[in-house]
Amino acid sequence: MKAFTDIVCPTPKGLYCPPGDFYIDPTRATERAVVTHGHSDHARAGHGSVLATKETLAIMGARYGADFTPSQQAARYGEKHRIGDATVWLSPAGHVLGSAQAVIEAHGRRIVVSGDYKRRPDPTCAPFEPVSCDVFITEATFGLPVFRHPDDGKEVAKALHMLEVFPERCVLIGAYALGKAQRIITLLRQGGYDAPVYIHGAMEKLCALYESLGVELGELRLTKDAVKGEMMGKVIVAPPSALGDRWSRRLPEPVNAFASGWMRVRARARQGGIELPLVISDHADWDELTATLLELSPQEVWVTHGREEPLVHWAGLNGLKVRPLHLAGYDEEDGEGPQGDNLKSAEDAAGEPA
Ligand SMILES: [Zn+2]
Ligand SMILES: [Zn+2]
Repeated sequence: MKAFTDIVCPTPKGLYCPPGDFYIDPTRATERAVVTHGHSDHARAGHGSVLATKETLAIMGARYGADFTPSQQAARYGEKHRIGDATVWLSPAGHVLGSAQAVIEAHGRRIVVSGDYKRRPDPTCAPFEPVSCDVFITEATFGLPVFRHPDDGKEVAKALHMLEVFPERCVLIGAYALGKAQRIITLLRQGGYDAPVYIHGAMEKLCALYESLGVELGELRLTKDAVKGEMMGKVIVAPPSALGDRWSRRLPEPVNAFASGWMRVRARARQGGIELPLVISDHADWDELTATLLELSPQEVWVTHGREEPLVHWAGLNGLKVRPLHLAGYDEEDGEGPQGDNLKSAEDAAGEPA
């Protein structure tokens, strides 16, 4: 019998599948990549070929240009693909539009690379589907018991309440451009907000892409085309990096809000000058992580990016065989945090002077 690491193993470029000779979410250019979702730390340009959902391929195309790889292979959820001596299929991860778990089968074993995932409903993407497996590779971005994400509808209601209390101001919500921004807009619509949502230029392309892939966002207007007065009492969505910069001076007395799982940490909100922290995350919280491990009860759990040790400890205490992977190259939150590509995208947002 082959060892699990003969099927998937950690390498400096990311997780590698020897029987199929491909990498999953490689952090450097490789000959053949399977990509779980479009966040920039998982989906990089320059691979010889990429297998992903059609949504993820579209997101990569929007970010890197249509020629980001010479060979694109679109996979539907559940559709099996033979690569070398391995079989690969994708199952929804509930993280962002098109996000998938990569299910890898070889030598009679099944290993699931979950990428990033969450378990709560998200109107912008297909819900996580648990797949029974021998090895489950889990993220641990919020792998500490302190991270418990509240109901997202109630968080968004706080922003809507602010608009009522301060009709002369606007609420400026910092949200990552891929996934979070579109989820926030959809949650606002579900909360009864039907006025135009004003967006920063850095959001335009991905919002348009989401709409073209069937996610309805309602009326969006670009802040650069708006006069100050019309944005009073309205919601503006912008990349987090735009919150403190000169760009925001054009807005009517913004209430600075930030939608992130990190907003659970008050000090972090205070440091960032966030008046209205919104605890909304596209990652599983502690309860979702631990419930998923118990539900799947695989032979082994491998833990990667984020807070590996506490989750490893918890899994061990709960009778699971577990190991941390210590993979490098993945960001704290989606490659879109202050160190990620959002700074760049905020700066080079077309037509958005500082
Ligand atoms: Zn990630
Ligand atoms: Zn992600």
